[in-house]
Amino acid sequence: MLSKQPSSMKIAIIGGGIAGLTTAIALRQIGINVTIYEANQELRPAGAGIALAANAVKAFELLGLRDKILAHGNPFELFSILDKQGKIITESNHFAAKEKYKVIGSFSIHRADLQKTLLEAMEDIPLYLGHQFLTLTQNDEGVTLVFRNGHTATFDYVLAADGIHSAVRRQLVPNTKIRYAGYTCWRGVTDTAPVGLNPKQATETWASEGRFGIVPLQGGRVYWFACVNAPTGDEPRFRNFTKTDLLHHFGQLHAPVAEIIGLTPDKRILHNDIIDLKPLRQLAYGKVLLIGDAAHAMTPNMGQGACQGIEDAVVLQRLIRQYPTDLSEVFQKFEAIRLPRTTTIVDRSFTLGKIAQVSQPWLVALRNALFRLMPAGMNNRQLDFIMDMNAA
Ligand SMILES: Cc1cc2nc3c(=O)[nH]c(=O)nc-3n(C[C@H](O)[C@H](O)[C@H](O)COP(=O)(O)OP(=O)(O)OC[C@H]3O[C@@H](n4cnc5c(N)ncnc54)[C@H](O)[C@@H]3O)c2cc1C
Repeated sequence: MLSKQPSSMKIAIIGGGIAGLTTAIALRQIGINVTIYEANQELRPAGAGIALAANAVKAFELLGLRDKILAHGNPFELFSILDKQGKIITESNHFAAKEKYKVIGSFSIHRADLQKTLLEAMEDIPLYLGHQFLTLTQNDEGVTLVFRNGHTATFDYVLAADGIHSAVRRQLVPNTKIRYAGYTCWRGVTDTAPVGLNPKQATETWASEGRFGIVPLQGGRVYWFACVNAPTGDEPRFRNFTKTDLLHHFGQLHAPVAEIIGLTPDKRILHNDIIDLKPLRQLAYGKVLLIGDAAHAMTPNMGQGACQGIEDAVVLQRLIRQYPTDLSEVFQKFEAIRLPRTTTIVDRSFTLGKIAQVSQPWLVALRNALFRLMPAGMNNRQLDFIMDMNAA
């Protein structure tokens, strides 16, 4: 058994996404010697925008990163679900988060800005690009990693933050299940916002054609997403969908949906099927721990995928502070704390997606009517659940 103090421990993190970078910063703050290995040759400013909820704000606050990140963020006052005509189905304001938890309710940020801010906060943490993890072996001495480029290295512990298709997870638990959620998604970012768009309001429109999200970013830009039901993943007719196709498909939705699609440069429209990872039963494997999407990839319906990876970083930091010598034990405690919470969120997110993607007109009408009757207290319960991250 290893019984080192954090300052003499060497930990490798596989994957330089949001979870890997945030966790590296969190561990460095408590004196751990941490190294990141990333498969890509460069860390491209991936994706479009992202919305981060109050629990991520709290987590960044605990890591001392809140102000740096919010400097690029656009905090919201309102999140509204709308019908096809733009009428409110349900709405939540963010004053409760401010009053009860003293944090901003949620904010949007361009992924490139989030990545850049995290990279700056890493300071001297080594990040090896072009290092695609292949295999690992562990024994009493530590964990030895082998990379595709021939590099090998041994560490006391390893964190797998290599995303939903995690190669580390595939080696440790070969039969995990990636689930197609039943809908496919386009995302984009505009450079300008339509006149009259409220920059402090994020909206999601639920229509029989599909779902359209409008998320204003800082600097007058707008991040949007559009989800359409498709019986199987990688549907050929959606693979090559163009902006014109999207305009045709969503053109009947309320303003300014069509204008926002029209404002988006073609090359900025991303497409991918929505998938998640069937909840795992185990995250800790001796000296190796799964975190982020490698551990609990979820559909984006609750806007919690990245938030949960950020929480992982804070919870792991806190546990290592409390039990600084044997991290295999810490990893088991982490699993006991994190699995029930992330499993619940994966499941809720999957169900919410099914409800939001209903397409038969009579079911759409019924769903909208039921949501309109939803008591306001439900939003507060949801906030309490999201904020209960065992990280304070
Ligand atoms: C359409 C969509 C919208 C979303 N919206 C939101 C939202 O609004 N809010 C929210 O909180 N979440 C959202 N999410 C989820 C969020 O994007 C993810 O949960 C988050 O990015 C996962 O971060 P990660 O670091 O765990 O994994 P990833 O971002 O997948 O990073 C994994 C990293 O590991 C690297 N890697 C992979 N394999 C290897 C290997 N073998 N060796 C070395 N490196 C490797 C990859 O190159 C990558 O850099 C959304 C997701 C989607 C698909």
